[in-house]
Amino acid sequence: MNFIEANDPDVWAAIASEIERQQDGLEMIASENYTSPAVMQAAGSVLTNKYAEGYPGRRYYGGCEHVDVVEDLARNRAKELFGAPVGKDIFANVQPHSGAQANTAVFLALLEPGDCVLGLDLAHGGHLTHGMKLNISGMLYDFHGYQTRKEDCRIDFDQVAKLAREHKPKLIIAGASAYPREMDHPKFKEIADEVGAKLMVDMAHYAGLVAAGLHNNPVEVADVVTTTTHKTLRGPRGGLILAKKDFAKVLNSRVFPGTQGGPLMHVIAGKAVCFGEALKPEFKTYAQNVIDNAQALADALLAGGLSLVSGGTDNHLMLVDVTPFGIGGKTAETALDACGITVNMNMIPFDERKPMDPSGIRIGTPALTTRGMGQAEMKTIGGWIVEALQKADDAAAHENIRQQVKSLCKEFPVPAAALAADET
Ligand code: PLP
Repeated sequence: MNFIEANDPDVWAAIASEIERQQDGLEMIASENYTSPAVMQAAGSVLTNKYAEGYPGRRYYGGCEHVDVVEDLARNRAKELFGAPVGKDIFANVQPHSGAQANTAVFLALLEPGDCVLGLDLAHGGHLTHGMKLNISGMLYDFHGYQTRKEDCRIDFDQVAKLAREHKPKLIIAGASAYPREMDHPKFKEIADEVGAKLMVDMAHYAGLVAAGLHNNPVEVADVVTTTTHKTLRGPRGGLILAKKDFAKVLNSRVFPGTQGGPLMHVIAGKAVCFGEALKPEFKTYAQNVIDNAQALADALLAGGLSLVSGGTDNHLMLVDVTPFGIGGKTAETALDACGITVNMNMIPFDERKPMDPSGIRIGTPALTTRGMGQAEMKTIGGWIVEALQKADDAAAHENIRQQVKSLCKEFPVPAAALAADET
């Protein structure tokens, strides 16, 4: 029985179309992924009915004995996943509703309004919660942005050190939304220590690669680590805070009651399932495949004449400069959309174009890797991307690619699509 279809055909029609879009197209937005059916089911479970303000064992509502079990499973698995590999007994808070909520709670815990913070410039791959003027981070705190170097588009640690010495920040943030290289957390720690700043790492994008032991683990050096759970980590949409145990009390209080009310217990159940999956050996294979696929795709794009920021990738994403083809990012995004390939336009470092039509697009491999696609498929897809951008105003060429995309997608079903169709 499909209850949504029976009760609300309008909402169902949109969901059904989205199931089809996810199944028939190539999802290459670097921050997106497909959850397992188990994560999807947990996130759609009866736990959505339960209020549970507080923390396990100390709730403001009755009837929390079962959700306590779920939240403890999520917290303990998060600690095991990220703390155990580096021999650290750490603190975890699984309640933030999103990555932005996690970051805001950390700022309220570690900073006073007006305090100075260093973060990566938005235009160089940073996230809006790292000091953008229209975000609460930029409104409340005195953010200074460090950048990447012009010659190789890697983080300019000389500049980070210079800004740190000049501004004496209370907090330095490492982490990015559009940076294709491995983050050097120990280098950030060295600079933070020199100026007496705390170090926060926002590993939202590459948490799955850290969980798999393929990228260096920020928990080893940072005071606080935040992440989303829905990108390379492949869980439900949400946030997570990990930290040294000294910060446990203040971080808990800044999440609840500081910035949130009742936790989303159904999402926390999804996080618990996701962390359980990430602890299995198969997840390491998945994460390695994500990186291998990104490198195969990068090679195909370079071979086709496109230019990549920093020349390639160490992680799950690449930033493609499309201007060598005489177009901008907006045109590129639209052309690929017409082919059933979803990406997002993106500024590139030192971009001379505007944010609404920048020079680049950001492409990622987490979602296609979850579908089981490998390096051979990346080579094919890379060829389609090059062709679509070379023929940016050729609708017939795009339609031709669209049909090929559809038939490739049929071979690689989306994990939880059948569940969504059957059970809702
Ligand atoms: N931090 C980084 C580095 C991100 O890339 C993102 C999302 O893209 C966030 C935080 C915010 O996450 P959310 O969209 O869940 O608030």
